[in-house]
Amino acid sequence: MANYEPVDSLESPRFSGVRTFMRLPHVETTEGIDFAIIGVPFDTGATYRIGARFGPEAIRSISALLRPHNAALDVSIFDYCSGVDFGDLPVVPGYIEDSFKRIEQSLFPLVDRGVIPILLGGDHSVTLPELRAVAKKHGPLALVQFDSHTDTWDEYFGRLYNHGTTFRRGVEEGLILVDRSIQVGMRGSLYSKEDLDAAKSLGFEVITSIDGQEMGIDNLIRSIRQRVGEAKVFVSFDIDFVDPAFAPGTGTIEVGGFTSAEALRLVRGLGGLNFTGFDVVELLPPYDRSQITASLAANIAYEFISLIALRKKKIAGAQ
Ligand code: MN
Ligand code: MN
Repeated sequence: MANYEPVDSLESPRFSGVRTFMRLPHVETTEGIDFAIIGVPFDTGATYRIGARFGPEAIRSISALLRPHNAALDVSIFDYCSGVDFGDLPVVPGYIEDSFKRIEQSLFPLVDRGVIPILLGGDHSVTLPELRAVAKKHGPLALVQFDSHTDTWDEYFGRLYNHGTTFRRGVEEGLILVDRSIQVGMRGSLYSKEDLDAAKSLGFEVITSIDGQEMGIDNLIRSIRQRVGEAKVFVSFDIDFVDPAFAPGTGTIEVGGFTSAEALRLVRGLGGLNFTGFDVVELLPPYDRSQITASLAANIAYEFISLIALRKKKIAGAQ
């Protein structure tokens, strides 16, 4: 029996109650839990559309539909793990470096006590302070980044911190084990050829959407697993990885992407890796008709929890 698990939706209707992720209890604890769902409602790092500050709220709202048995992975999550909705981290709207400090400082105690965070963005700038907190505990991390952009610009408007520079800063700060890291899904128009080359020269393996679609999902999964190996890994999922036909509610849309079904297959394919943290970012509810994108983001987070449960199930089975 898990210490903390969702409210039983066969006992109380899913549309009732205060909205937490998956109807998990909102408890600010680090005791007796394997994972914590944590909102990061910050969008000052966005360079085009804004509104990702409302992402966590939208994901929580639609997540009331999620049920505890993951049929695709054959795991009943709360037979193997316990988790809470920790609430949101503190941020200062309009002030990126202040917010980064607060995000890192408030996330670190959870990570330090062995809790695996599943963070709901926010724009993609929030991944930098997340990586700072997680790497402070675990050392440099392998990164699996699903995104239509590499987010490895050096600067934007002469500024070092925004959602397009996250992973260059992460490499410079020694947070990322580049030779174990991979970026998947890049596409769309660029400022120049150097945009993609920059990520490669930082040391990332980069698989574009065109190459990934050519390879097929199974080969793509194989490449990611091969690259990461046994390294401690952080998975960052920018929802614009998915085609805007399936994920219109985001800030910097790029057509020609993967389907939501393919995205879920890819995430499920990561089972068994040595996870230290996850995030799903760049959901903009104001552009999200019918909660399509929020539903996808909630399901991506659900697959992340399932991967944690699956790992514990394998360990339990081996004993
Ligand atoms: Mn991104
Ligand atoms: Mn992106």
